[in-house]
Amino acid sequence: MSLVIVGSLALDTIETPKERKERIIGGSCSYAALAASYFTNPKIVAVIGEDFPAGIIDLFKQKGIDTRGVTKEYGKTFHWEGRYGSDPNQRTTIKTELNVFKDFKPRLPKDYCNTDILFLGNIDPDLQKDILSQARSPKLVAMDTINLWIENKPNSLLKVLEQVDVFFANDEEVKLIADEVNLIKAGNKLLKKGPSLMIIKKGEHGALLMGKDFVFGTLAYPCENVIDPTGAGDSFGGGFLGYLDKVNSFKEADIRKAAVYGSVMASFTIEDFSIERIKSLGAEEIDSRFNEFKKLVTF
Ligand code: AMP
Repeated sequence: MSLVIVGSLALDTIETPKERKERIIGGSCSYAALAASYFTNPKIVAVIGEDFPAGIIDLFKQKGIDTRGVTKEYGKTFHWEGRYGSDPNQRTTIKTELNVFKDFKPRLPKDYCNTDILFLGNIDPDLQKDILSQARSPKLVAMDTINLWIENKPNSLLKVLEQVDVFFANDEEVKLIADEVNLIKAGNKLLKKGPSLMIIKKGEHGALLMGKDFVFGTLAYPCENVIDPTGAGDSFGGGFLGYLDKVNSFKEADIRKAAVYGSVMASFTIEDFSIERIKSLGAEEIDSRFNEFKKLVTF
């Protein structure tokens, strides 16, 4: 099948209790595409500025990622600054500088329009809607978002939500959009608004999948050494959709397996800053962690 991923290519400044890193590679598209690249050859759509390192685009190409949908504009790349306290599940956005994203008019290259799976990664919901209108008849559309858009563009976000099959969001975001304190009620409320599958990310506690007629939970990998949680959600999404694209199936059994692969990819991302860990994994490492997950939940 085929997978198109739309999202941000970013330079991130990240502060953890131990370290501060300035302008390292980040963005929803970077993480999702790298995670997906271990299962399929994703095509990406994003915008970069003049300061985005050319070597990273080369790295994407080496990983089999189709970068023809990446536009380079005059100006600076999207910059996001986040800070983590002692609890890695809690982060504060310090700065969001849209830069070249401000005037970005995404165009899907012609042969991207026939994609089977479309992943609308975390970007402005108006851009997500624009991209969605260019895709011909995808078999599966997934979207992700972030608090900024829920707070600033709730109506645009709800319009996109009506047209997607899978919605990735963390527990706080689900409650916020649904205006409901109970997570299950909130998930069920959103299932009535469009998506047939909610994937609720719960940080170090894993993820909860709520379908119209099934519920499935996966643990997060018990990781003692969390260096930088940034990109865990995007890596989950990329791994999840990359796996479904590879097996060419949306059956419940494959969706469950895809969620475990999503968790596997997220668990690698958080073991280092930026894309350092996820950029050069071996198939054996991925399979071995998948098998560890299996052991964790078999009883
Ligand atoms: P995650 O930790 O999976 O939620 O994703 C973190 C990534 O999202 C970072 O690398 C940021 O560059 C990117 N990001 C943060 N805010 C935004 C935003 N408003 N639009 C697009 N990407 C963003």
